Amino acid sequence: MGRKRKEVPVDEGESGSVEKGEPKPVKKPRNANSSKGKTTLPPVDTTSWPQHFQYLYKVFKALNTVLAFCSSRKNFAITFPVVRLSVEQLLKEPLELARVAELKALLPDTVKFAYIPREELRIHGDSQETSSRRERSPDFAAFATSGASSSKLDDQAEHVLVLDFMENSRGKKSTNQGFGYTLPPALTPAAMKRLVERRNSRFVDAINELLEATRQGEDPVALLQAAARDHIPINPSGSPAPTSSKGKQREVPSPEDRPTIDAVMQELLQETWYQDQLTSRRIFDARQGRTASLEVPLSDEIQQALSASRKIMSLYIHQVAAIDALAQGKSVIVSTSTASGKSVIYQVPVLKALQEDHQSTAMFIYPTKALAQDQRIALEQLLYSCPGLEHIKVYNYDGDTAQELRAGIRENASVIFTNFDMLHTSILPHEDLWRRFLKNLKIVAVDELHYYSNIFGSHVAQVMRRFRRVCAAVGNRRICFVSCSATISKPGQHMKHIFGIEDVYEVTEDGAPSGRKDFLVWNPPLKDPMDASLGRMSSMSEATRLMRYLMTRGVRVILFCKIRKVCELAMRTLRAELTAEGRLDILDRVMAYRGGYSQQDRRRIEKEAFTGNLLGIVATNALELGVDIGVLDAVIMLGFPMGGIASFRQQAGRAGRRARDALAVFIPDPFPIDQHYVNNPDDLFDQATNDLMVDLESKVILEAHLQCAAHEMPLTMEDEKYFGPLTKGICETRLVKDKDGWYHAHPKYLPFPAKHIALRGADEEKYSVVDISKLDRAGGTAQILEEVELSRALFEIYEGAVFIHQGITFLVKEVSHDSKTAKVIRTDVNWITQPRDFTNIDAAQTYRIRALRESPHHAYYGRVELKTVVYGYFKLRNRAIIDAIDLETPPWERDSTGMWIDVPKQTLGLLKHSGINPAEAIHAAEHAFLNRFALREDLKTECKVAEKEYKVGPSQRKRPARLIFYEPSGKTGGTAVRAFDHASDLLHDALDAVEACPCEEGCTACIDSPTCKSDNLVTSKVGALIVLKAMLGRPIDIDLIPEYPLDAQTFETVVEAPVVRAVEGVQIEAA
Ligand SMILES: [Zn+2]
Ligand SMILES: [Zn+2]
Repeated sequence: MGRKRKEVPVDEGESGSVEKGEPKPVKKPRNANSSKGKTTLPPVDTTSWPQHFQYLYKVFKALNTVLAFCSSRKNFAITFPVVRLSVEQLLKEPLELARVAELKALLPDTVKFAYIPREELRIHGDSQETSSRRERSPDFAAFATSGASSSKLDDQAEHVLVLDFMENSRGKKSTNQGFGYTLPPALTPAAMKRLVERRNSRFVDAINELLEATRQGEDPVALLQAAARDHIPINPSGSPAPTSSKGKQREVPSPEDRPTIDAVMQELLQETWYQDQLTSRRIFDARQGRTASLEVPLSDEIQQALSASRKIMSLYIHQVAAIDALAQGKSVIVSTSTASGKSVIYQVPVLKALQEDHQSTAMFIYPTKALAQDQRIALEQLLYSCPGLEHIKVYNYDGDTAQELRAGIRENASVIFTNFDMLHTSILPHEDLWRRFLKNLKIVAVDELHYYSNIFGSHVAQVMRRFRRVCAAVGNRRICFVSCSATISKPGQHMKHIFGIEDVYEVTEDGAPSGRKDFLVWNPPLKDPMDASLGRMSSMSEATRLMRYLMTRGVRVILFCKIRKVCELAMRTLRAELTAEGRLDILDRVMAYRGGYSQQDRRRIEKEAFTGNLLGIVATNALELGVDIGVLDAVIMLGFPMGGIASFRQQAGRAGRRARDALAVFIPDPFPIDQHYVNNPDDLFDQATNDLMVDLESKVILEAHLQCAAHEMPLTMEDEKYFGPLTKGICETRLVKDKDGWYHAHPKYLPFPAKHIALRGADEEKYSVVDISKLDRAGGTAQILEEVELSRALFEIYEGAVFIHQGITFLVKEVSHDSKTAKVIRTDVNWITQPRDFTNIDAAQTYRIRALRESPHHAYYGRVELKTVVYGYFKLRNRAIIDAIDLETPPWERDSTGMWIDVPKQTLGLLKHSGINPAEAIHAAEHAFLNRFALREDLKTECKVAEKEYKVGPSQRKRPARLIFYEPSGKTGGTAVRAFDHASDLLHDALDAVEACPCEEGCTACIDSPTCKSDNLVTSKVGALIVLKAMLGRPIDIDLIPEYPLDAQTFETVVEAPVVRAVEGVQIEAA
């Protein structure tokens, strides 16, 4: 900047008066250039303050002086770059954003530090000034309109960072604290002086208050700095915020030149903020690749193709084992690490089959369209490099394939890349159109087999059976099936379940090379080392700090978060921290990735990641699947993944490939399950994963697919070999038999039975989240940010909610339930919102009743009515509630299926008389039951909300005393009935687990649920024990009953369960 600036007349004597260690000056000698008539502040004792606060005072006084000067000049817009330059001149050192944020945290009502729309920067009541401001204003005005360096930002920089004080000359808070902005009226010099003094003393008071309020063992500076993090303004326009005016920052090394993980670790452990967070470290040494030769060597052409398009000169042992087995006509499952070269295992046999017979066809099935597209391109390249196979036609065939292209694909394709949904709704129902393809089908490859479990897996297993049946009918019984999965327990068994085949050749020995890998467990430090009861620092700030640390060293990081909201909050924290550090170069290379973002956004982020542009990704498990996002060096897992140990290993496996070293860090949350792994880190590596669930006996699922199968080709009892022994009963009761003994789909499912089943659950209605921030500007349009499923919309987009997208905050202004849209505005807020809601679940009609083993009581299955109400929300800052707002939103009512077991009447009485809160007892028993149920992900219970249960005064709804479970809307079938069918076992297992658990008050091994809506607050272990025992007809041990006094007021929420009307003719089934 070559421009000459006018000196700002300031009192340097004051601003320079506080120096560390110096005795407090009673009256400081004035500086030569201080003007006469200035008064000094009353003497302030700051010597007892921490040094940092003394420095902060110096900064504040400089700022105070500059702002007072600016406000006396009528046409100044007080933007941050302007103020900063002047303050830096006074301080003779850079003014960091973090310091300003600390001032803002200290005096939130005085300091205004925020981005405001550029339009609102106009000088109040003086419109002609705006147009000629640049010419007429001296010095600062140029910065005010064009940002720190150039005017090229004029178009995009819609927001301007403003730093000012928010009060008028009479010391009252401005009424204009919102988005609007006007300059204060000019003051007389005397009034100005008083204003400056008043502000300075307000600062001193605030510091003194903070020091007084700080508890023993806490560091007031750290407290303030932590609070300041929420006050770093974030530019809603997303264009660069001002970087450090001194511009000195370290370059981020390119990922190729980054230091080794070991070097980074050594440096890290020397950092001042390292406080023994590292509780476990395990290093896996680099492993050489192990290769072998095929029994039958590949043709020259295939070898040439592999070397030309992939630089593959030899094959690893697992590739060889799989390809050899396929050559012998076996079906194969390969379960090895991520990036071990699994696609070659599918591709080579396809090339071989095509070389032998150009008519051959193959089908590749992926769980997502994105994966299928990546892999289609890879195979095309390979074919193109293979002499003689260049002409082979390969297509994606999925929901995005245009209707007019589909016939051509059916007629010409040699290989299609598709998914089970297409197989189910498009290929099998039109088997006649696919006959050429199916007759010539040699290989079916199903990738990511571990993805297919629980309900979805159970559907897919039936689709696979329909598929094999149709292929056999067109005369093709010799298809080889090949599948790959992440490392799972019993991969062969899982493949047998999904494919319905008997002989599966299992390959689990991994021959791929891998780099050195460092596994860390990084427990956030205690808030107070002397007092563990205060808990630990936030895992999120540890995670983001570590992530920033790694990124500045050129280490490419992915941060996995458990849920979407945490993902956005982590992104927001990174935004604030990187902005505060002036590392916008790094911020530009970090993005969030989660479900809910549009397809285009997701593809764009994947591409950015793959091409190496991104240094950091903050993601949910949406990125767990094998979408190729290029080489990552480090994985940070914030909290133990909901998917359990399998998910943990899958996420950890995203870092590192081949020759590079890599890092995986687990940062536990305070939850018991997380802390279990802190204390037993070996379990992270050695514990067996749960077997993947596939339910082949669900009558609901089986019937649905038998209707489809019968429509594809009428069924006979011969088909039991595909669909199992339940086939006969379902055919006889649910399908239609013709005179020749063939079974046909029931007419109510015609003409397209497949349309009645959505493999992944019904598509939910969605709300559009529309950003209207720019609507009132010339040329501004509304933009759709995201589409949110109905079941989430309720909890995320109510009026007043803070909606976060890519770590940027928006305020929800208006929600229309008719048009299913929410209008939001970009707003820099330092709080988040959390809905206050409850869901009422009422059993409405009984379909089935089943006796419970060794008990006089029953389990019920039937229709339930669900009603969810969001009745308000909390504003939270630093996890503390700063406000509670009531809302009136329409309730969300829907029907579902569920199962329930009533609490016997005497037991309810016993609980009440013993002073055990029945709501706590029932809630805990519900968790205990669910914890024993393998399909619990797809079944929900009525989690009790503390705010409601412990409310003083009567509750509107008296809840029936029963354990009740329901299938959330959008999920199709079979889960509740499964729990119903196994109710006796589940109750017995639950009781055993609670009885045997050594914990005092309950833990995740017995009555706590990691997904509890109310954080397991309303639970009672002894209550659960009594309820479970009573349901099973066991005697209640009198010792169980505590002697604490009765508190009748909290007991009003639960009443005896009424009888639920049953459909006609229901018989009680045996246990
Ligand atoms: Zn719960
Ligand atoms: Zn326990």
